[in-house]
Amino acid sequence: MTKTPIAAAKEFVRASVRHFIDGEWRKSHSDETIDIINPATEETLTTISVGGKDDIDAAVAAARKAFEGPKWRDMPAAERERLLLVLADKIEANLDEIAAIETIDMGMPYMASKFGAIKAAVSAVRYNAGWVRRIGGETAPVSAPGEWHGYTTREPVGVAALIVPWNAPFVMTCGKMSAALAAGCTVVIKPAELAPLSTLRLAELVAETGFPPGVVNVITGDGATTGSLLAKHNDVDKVSFTGSTATGKMILQDSIAGLKRVSLELGGKSPVFIFPDADLSKSIPGAAMGIFANSGQVCAAGSRLYVHDAVYDQVIAGIAAFAEKMTLGDGLDDGVNLGPLISEKQRVRVMNFIETGKSQGAKLITGGAKPDRKGFFVEPTVFANVTPSMSIFREEIFGPVLSVMRFKDENIDELATYANDTPYGLSAYLWTGNLNTAHSMIKRIKSGSVKVNGAGMEFTLPFGGYKQSGIGRENGRFGVEAFTEVKAVMLGYTSGA
Ligand code: NAD
Repeated sequence: MTKTPIAAAKEFVRASVRHFIDGEWRKSHSDETIDIINPATEETLTTISVGGKDDIDAAVAAARKAFEGPKWRDMPAAERERLLLVLADKIEANLDEIAAIETIDMGMPYMASKFGAIKAAVSAVRYNAGWVRRIGGETAPVSAPGEWHGYTTREPVGVAALIVPWNAPFVMTCGKMSAALAAGCTVVIKPAELAPLSTLRLAELVAETGFPPGVVNVITGDGATTGSLLAKHNDVDKVSFTGSTATGKMILQDSIAGLKRVSLELGGKSPVFIFPDADLSKSIPGAAMGIFANSGQVCAAGSRLYVHDAVYDQVIAGIAAFAEKMTLGDGLDDGVNLGPLISEKQRVRVMNFIETGKSQGAKLITGGAKPDRKGFFVEPTVFANVTPSMSIFREEIFGPVLSVMRFKDENIDELATYANDTPYGLSAYLWTGNLNTAHSMIKRIKSGSVKVNGAGMEFTLPFGGYKQSGIGRENGRFGVEAFTEVKAVMLGYTSGA
């Protein structure tokens, strides 16, 4: 009898796993390990190795050798594109199993994992495959005396370290990795220690696809040891990091000695505005899912909601009702649409924010408790009467906690000031039927993306942050170009010679 995808996923996560270096699975040089916990059940699934200096050196050396070697360097662009497309097909063929691995490892409800995150990963790899034969330069008129051909080329930056968080690991890893490979880089991936398993499954599919050894390497481990060693490594040319703003700042500091190229996708505290002319049948569930999807563990979560006085009562009641109808539980169970938080530490952190919110005078509308069951769950929570001095307004909670504020005047300059009252600038959401309102707000909001009457991620558009939400952009053409250097060429020639 063939295994069901969920059985296959369970078997995979229980298998002992190692680092993927130079096209083969290798035992770690270090004996240190980390237990991997299913956040819905608190059971230990497996252990991973903490990659140390020797492991990182081996992975970076393999990536360097592959980068300089003819198999990858001289591979025709069409072949590189084909390999990425084959990988996308393999991910798609194993969609159910990978979705289940992600659910078991980090808690995301299975349906969201399958039809949201993992499907999006397939799309991202296919999209970036399309860039392989489209990355190009420009010609430029040269004014120096004589005859010249002036042009630019884009070349891969080299060995790229991809350091990824746990909140949607597979899609983020696939997005970064396929952009880097499309540009011609080789990569060393360091998945998050809290949810590394889908990345290890990805490495198996990479091996089956036939990429030359060393083009993709995966080293497991924590941030303080493995991540830091990788980010600081002298032979890494570029670090592409997604994670917290605090870690991003450390990585930027670590890059100074070698002036490494760095892209940082960091935290957010994104504002949402519901105007009186919004279609409430869409904006209420939209705003609710904007904070409760993935249990709020989304960098672009709409965590600060501003609602116009005319629709305030209806919106608050609608979002509270939505929250109360959510089915919380193990993401593998039918009908569950709210999974656990990633860890006990994160649950305690989120509960502390909730307690502080109450003590600072915010009005608890719904939720606010830890359900009496195993797993790192927190109820979907809505606070009203939140003021900008409260910590639930200011800090990225990374949990299912919404802060709601009321506004009366539609003074666009003032509303934009509210939106921008944060050190972050990742995303913003507007719900309105009025084009003037939308355009005026879009122009004034300081964030890397603005979504009007909807939400969601689109790989064809760049994603990244203003201010402390990051440096650089992922996705779209910008995402691939971030893994390239520009070379300017001035080629002098003699007419008719
Ligand atoms: P984190 O910064 O703790 O860890 C992210 C990754 O960095 C992990 O792989 C970790 O092991 C590694 N790491 C930790 N310390 C390191 C160090 N000193 N040097 C090198 N690597 C190190 O973040 P997290 O808690 O895993 O993820 C949550 C954060 O990620 C949130 O702040 C969230 O907003 C952010 N995030 C941002 C985006 C985005 O695209 N902007 C997307 C998802 C998550």
